[in-house]
Parts: sequence; C-alpha cells; structure tokens
Amino acid sequence: MAEHRRQLDIAVIGAGILGLATTEALVRLGVDVTCFDGRPPGRGLSGGLTRTFRHRHDSEQVVGLAVAGKEGFDRWAKRLGRRLIGDEGVVYAGMTPDHAAGMRAHGVEHRFADPAEHRSLFGPLAPVSGPLLVDPDGGAIRAKRTIDALAGWVGDRIVQADIHSVTVPPDGDGVEIQTTESIYRARHVVICAGTAAPRLGAGVGFDMPVRSALHARPHFRLRDGYRGEPLPCWVDITGEFGEKVYGSPIGSTGRYVLGLIGPDVDVPFDAAGALPPGSTMDEHVRRLQSYVRRALPGLDSEPVGIRVCVMTKLPAGSDAFRVWHTGGVTAIAGHNLFKLAPVLGELLAESAVDDVLPARLRLAGATALRAA
Ligand SMILES: Cc1cc2nc3c(=O)[nH]c(=O)nc-3n(C[C@H](O)[C@H](O)[C@H](O)COP(=O)(O)OP(=O)(O)OC[C@H]3O[C@@H](n4cnc5c(N)ncnc54)[C@H](O)[C@@H]3O)c2cc1C
Repeated sequence: MAEHRRQLDIAVIGAGILGLATTEALVRLGVDVTCFDGRPPGRGLSGGLTRTFRHRHDSEQVVGLAVAGKEGFDRWAKRLGRRLIGDEGVVYAGMTPDHAAGMRAHGVEHRFADPAEHRSLFGPLAPVSGPLLVDPDGGAIRAKRTIDALAGWVGDRIVQADIHSVTVPPDGDGVEIQTTESIYRARHVVICAGTAAPRLGAGVGFDMPVRSALHARPHFRLRDGYRGEPLPCWVDITGEFGEKVYGSPIGSTGRYVLGLIGPDVDVPFDAAGALPPGSTMDEHVRRLQSYVRRALPGLDSEPVGIRVCVMTKLPAGSDAFRVWHTGGVTAIAGHNLFKLAPVLGELLAESAVDDVLPARLRLAGATALRAA
C-alpha cells in the first residue's frame, strides 16, 4: 500500500440516522468501521425532536420493513433503558380497508373506528365524517434521543471530516475517498449522505435522481383543557378541513408538529441551493394555521415554533427509497426513512460486509419502493 494513504475496512459516509444505524450494526458484527461526517451527528435530514412511526404503507413490502423497523427500535430502547417510540399510536383519516392491506398481510394490529370516537382517539380533533384507522403500535419517535443513543454507542468510530468524493481507482485496490485530512482506501463504502448522496454517488457512476425541497413544520401548543387527552400521530388525507396533513406530538411536551401532504407543499431548490424566484414558506404556515382552526380546536392556532427542513425525494413518490450498489460501494436515498433505520442499517451493513446487495434491498433497488 502507498505510504501516504490510509487503509480502512468499511467506511460509512454520514452520521444521520441511516449512517449511525449502519455503523452500529457493523460494530455489533465486530467489523472495523469508520463513519465520516463533517458535522456533529444528526444535523442533516435527521435533525429535530420527533418523527412518526407508522405501520401503514401502500407497499406490503414496506409494511414488512416497518414491522422489522419497530422490532429494531424496541431492541435499541431496551439497550438504552428508555423508550424511543411513544405509545401514542397513529390515527389516519381517509383510509379504506384497501389502504390497510399491507397491515393485514403482516398481521399488524389495527382497527377502523367510528367517527363518533374522534375525541377519545385524538383529543384536539373536531368531529369528522368518515371512519378513522387506528394503528395502536405506532407512535412518535424520539428522534434526538435515538440519534444521541446511537452516536454514544458507536463512539469514536465517528470521524469529523467531510468527504470530497468517492472513486473506484483503476488499480482495483478498494475504493478511494478523500477528506481534508487524508486519502483513504476502503474495502467497502456505504453512502448515507442525505442531500449529498447524489453528488458522492455520481463519483462511482450512480445516477440518483433525488430532488431536494424545503418543507415547513410549525408546532402548536395544546390548549388548556385538552391536557391528558389522547395525542396520537395523525395522517389526514381527506381534505375535509381544506388540507391534507400529517402530525406528531413532541414527546409529552404538549406541543404538536404539523406538516402539509401533497404535490405542491415543498419548495424545490437546485443543487446550488437556489429557490424559485418569489418562493416563500409563509404561505405553508398560514395554510396549516387555517387547518388547525378548522380541524384541531384543541390546539392554539398560533405556532410556538417553526422548523424549515430539507426533504429528499425520488420521482417514484414522497415515500419511495432506493439502494444502489456496485463492487465496493452501496448508497441509499429516499424519504421517510427514519422509522426504517434499524432494519435498513442492518441490511446496509450486510451489503458492506458481503459486497452483495441483500435480496430485500435488491427488490427496493429494482422498483424504488413506494410507501404512501
Ligand atoms: C420535515 C421532515 C419530516 C419527516 N418525517 C418523517 C416521519 O414522520 N417518519 C419518518 O420515518 N421519516 C421522516 N422524515 C424523513 C427522515 O427524517 C429521513 O428520511 C432521515 O432522517 C434520513 O436520514 P439520513 O441518515 O439518510 O440523512 P441525514 O440525516 O441527512 O444524514 C446524512 C449525513 O451526511 C452528512 N454528510 C453530507 N455530506 C457529507 C460529506 N460530503 N461528507 C461527510 N458527511 C456528509 C450530513 O452532515 C448528514 O449528517 C422526515 C424528514 C423531514 C425533513
């Protein structure tokens, strides 16, 4: 080996939820792994306090991954000695029995509740016209707690450095990655770099058609008088109250995050970070305030805080993901992957160790799974 470069067994690029889950799985396997990130863990797409864990997806295969994801979160929670997914459950409006086919196929507990039960299922909710699908084993992921736990477990495997590029050298001796500190050769590189994945993947010939967009997530305070009432995660695709939305409690703080669902709700930006001229996120917040006034009288419609987050989506849909693989390199991109991180981390670790895409990811790579 040339003197000036450093040899690694497996390199993971990115210390977001997927990179950390992959690194943690590799550490458990006793593999020599180094995880690179230019920022502290969890500052990219995985930032913030809460995410929804839901079982319901259009694709049966993704429901199966969600079941495995839940088992993984339960294992992590046991190891940590603290819960990582709350017992709030998920309530969905606008679903038919067809929408629950994947849950039935995988034996996931669920039921359709009478609309008259709205208040006993979701305290702040106004009367609704249709049945509500209840996913009692879903809930709010404690996102920051999960990131902190994983970062602690993998410890000094994380090296704070940005990777400039990934290439497969013609000498056939591993995969080269460059940082400001050194040139490395790794037996396998796993790219879990969020918004930067397409740029890094391009270095080894991956065409990753990821679109980045900004998304507003205001959070609202529970009104006095609604404290102690059920506060589940929420998915409303009816449009009955003027918008389609998702929502999630922030732990047990009495604050509730809402975001819009639909093709027009994210503001795209290009590789240089430029928004279309005249774009503004204000309008999205106003639309959510209007939704709160109509649908959620138990919340104060004045937001107490707003996060503007980046989303990375594939053309196959807002809930699609895909894995790319070539000799020595695996890369992943998609959206709504927090809940699947434990199982995706294990599968990406397997891909790195064997240098073969596991069957469950091969199918995903072929079809770009849709997950509702
Ligand atoms: C508003 C919003 C709501 C969401 N809601 C849900 C939900 O309810 N349920 C759910 O399951 N998922 C949800 N998601 C999606 C979920 O958060 C993401 O799919 C997940 O966090 C992606 O994790 P990641 O590890 O792939 O990416 P990231 O967290 O972005 O991690 C990538 C890391 O790579 C690092 N990096 C980038 N470039 C380089 C480089 N050149 N060198 C070294 N490091 C680099 C970055 O610093 C970053 O830390 C939501 C996302 C958003 C934004």
